[in-house]
Amino acid sequence: MEQKKISASMEVPIKKKKLMKRSRQDRSPRNSNNDVSNAQETNNDDNSTTTSNSTLSPFTRGVCPLVSSRYVKVGNRVGEGTYGVVYQALDKFTNQHVALKRCIPHHEASDGFPLTTLREIHTLKVCCQHPNIVDLLEIAVSDKANSREETGRTARGGVFLVFEYCPTDLANILDTFSAQHHIKKKHSKSSSSHHSHSWCSPFNQAQVKTLTQQLLSAVDWCHQHYLIHRDIKPSNLLYSSDGTLKLCDFGLSRHCSGRFDQPPLTPNVVSLWYRAPELLFPMKGNAQAMSSSSSSSSSYSFPIDMFSVGCVYCEMLQGFPLLDGKSELEQIDKMVQCLGHPPSRLYSYDATTTTTTMKQQQQQHSTGRNIGSSSAALWDRLDCLSTEGLSLATRLLEYDPSNRWTAHQALKSSFFSQEPLPATTMPSLKEMGIE
Ligand code: ADP
Ligand code: MG
Repeated sequence: MEQKKISASMEVPIKKKKLMKRSRQDRSPRNSNNDVSNAQETNNDDNSTTTSNSTLSPFTRGVCPLVSSRYVKVGNRVGEGTYGVVYQALDKFTNQHVALKRCIPHHEASDGFPLTTLREIHTLKVCCQHPNIVDLLEIAVSDKANSREETGRTARGGVFLVFEYCPTDLANILDTFSAQHHIKKKHSKSSSSHHSHSWCSPFNQAQVKTLTQQLLSAVDWCHQHYLIHRDIKPSNLLYSSDGTLKLCDFGLSRHCSGRFDQPPLTPNVVSLWYRAPELLFPMKGNAQAMSSSSSSSSSYSFPIDMFSVGCVYCEMLQGFPLLDGKSELEQIDKMVQCLGHPPSRLYSYDATTTTTTMKQQQQQHSTGRNIGSSSAALWDRLDCLSTEGLSLATRLLEYDPSNRWTAHQALKSSFFSQEPLPATTMPSLKEMGIE
């Protein structure tokens, strides 16, 4: 097969799993303008990443296949995010469908190889064994001529991450279903009489339980290996035709010791709707965060992923996002409306700065279910859930990161051992309106 030399910057030194379990590493290139390459994050490597050639995997031996020699594009692009354009393709040798993610080099001329791509390769080479984490098959490159043909806008050679192919993602499923449901609702408007905020999800509660268990299992795996994903959201959760959920898009992921004395991390992470309170509210006692131009803290850890999981869990139940602010201020406002006021011992929060002044809703709800400190508004929204299901939501959406359930705790909770047991059948793509 035709092969092409990979540039030195692509040679990410990666050790085998046993090393990753204990080491703290980040091979971020310096001087990048990328929003995740905050200078705060570039100086906290340790020396444990130096790797001899004998421990390098096939990906890092310096050769990558030419994309055109092995893959044929099928149809149009299947997805596009901030950092990559994704195409469906056929592997000419195995006849398997794959997803080719072409990395978008935002500032390649000045910054070199994109940091997000390096992070994604680095992380997935460790994680690719988990059934709920997308499998990175290989890395391929294109020559200049091909690159123009594939992207239509640049003649520079491209780097492609080759993944196992999944037909859709959770965001697409939820959007498609709610669009169809909306149309149906409109058609039957005259006959329908209710509900103001009824759920509109393609998944029943048992199916949501199965999906949540899969998501938690992937996140638990990452956290056990000292990785924070930092961008958990429906569009980064792929869905395969047998109902398996797979966490993807590790471009913002990074290693984290989990200790609070670790160097500060950039606060510009996690899409707004899934962002934890410690990234939105200034935390008390965090002088650096208070004086920075950003309103948020730079001292955070694994719990930020767990808050995102809580948001995704509620979204799968309801069929629409839990907290969908259009700006940081509105997001804070919606969070306060849904979860009550943040504890003043933790966060500097001035209720007058939000658009709505909220009543204190921290008291026990009239249902009498004593399940934590979250607000009655959340309980109202999730009122069809079992106590265990509600408990999972409130423990994942805890304001205090140290009280928030870890993935491990959540998986051990009675929610996953009690009826209804996880679903054995998931809706087919056709049933959900996905072609
Ligand atoms: P970005 O960093 O740009 O957000 P992602 O890895 O999230 O890139 O990919 C963008 C979109 O492409 C995803 O939201 C998803 O819809 C689609 N996608 C990504 N990986 C795959 C895959 N392996 N199979 C099918 N579609 C994928
Ligand atoms: Mg993405």
